[in-house]
Amino acid sequence: SKQFSRPINDLANQYNMIQSGIAGAERVFEVMDNETEYDSNEGASQLTDVKGEVVFQNVSFAYTDDVPTLRGVSFTAEPGDLIALVGPTGAGKTTIINLLTRFYEVNEGRITIDGQDIRDMQKDSLRSQLGIVLQDVYLFSDTIRENIRFGRLDATDEEVEAAAKLGGADGFIRKLPSGYDAKLTAGGGNLSQGQRQLLTIARAILADPAILVLDEATSSVDTRTELHIQQAMGVLMKGRTSFVIAHRLSTIREASAILVIHGGEIVERGTHEELLARRGHYYDLYANQFSEASSL
Ligand code: ADP
Repeated sequence: SKQFSRPINDLANQYNMIQSGIAGAERVFEVMDNETEYDSNEGASQLTDVKGEVVFQNVSFAYTDDVPTLRGVSFTAEPGDLIALVGPTGAGKTTIINLLTRFYEVNEGRITIDGQDIRDMQKDSLRSQLGIVLQDVYLFSDTIRENIRFGRLDATDEEVEAAAKLGGADGFIRKLPSGYDAKLTAGGGNLSQGQRQLLTIARAILADPAILVLDEATSSVDTRTELHIQQAMGVLMKGRTSFVIAHRLSTIREASAILVIHGGEIVERGTHEELLARRGHYYDLYANQFSEASSL
């Protein structure tokens, strides 16, 4: 509700929980996929029937030799868990995602999916199981239908429309003059921000990955659209292991675990209620924002 979204908006502003990185990560992804570096581990195993258990075991990482970015990060996400990553800009949230997606390789420790070290997997295979929903939505100049189909290129029109229905996008699409055949401009500039988000969610539903990585939008959309997007996100995350660089209080409250990242380490973990009760980092952050909000 409005009352709760207020503190979290401020929370996100102060801690800038979103923004930095994942979009950058995707650009890296594109570059890497075009390079000859292409499968450094040919013959490695393919992922099939992924349940979605993700384990970080004592993971450490540095982008450059001298500065450690992550230190001793350990956590377990059970299949279907929603893991919210929170913490200030530069804390290492995006780096955790960069390692899970193998944009970068861990220096120490290991990351497993369903018990299998991700270094032993083909990158393509790993990434086909990872759905990445970015704040900067990637829409290109083609029809709405093709933009959704991008989630799974061999999907039929019926499957495209079913995904849009599930994700709550069908309603607005059908109101457009050409419906699913409506042409988008690059970046989806002829749609509202909320509509663009719904399309990306429909695309991810169609892709049907076992594991999701989400960068929640900070954008200001109206309350009704916001609710709509929340519902669509709920559908998308159901039954999948989801990692969210979280912005919405509604997401954080529902998280199986909130990982509070600070200086490359997990400094607190627990549910929203548990962390409030602990009166530590998370509590301070929340209490701060709450009192600030009530003074307005
Ligand atoms: P967050 O997502 O929590 O804002 P990041 O994971 O993006 O934090 O960044 C963690 C730290 O790693 C920051 O100090 C950041 O400057 C640094 N960093 C991020 N990406 C790179 C990179 N490609 N090369 C070197 N340092 C990086």
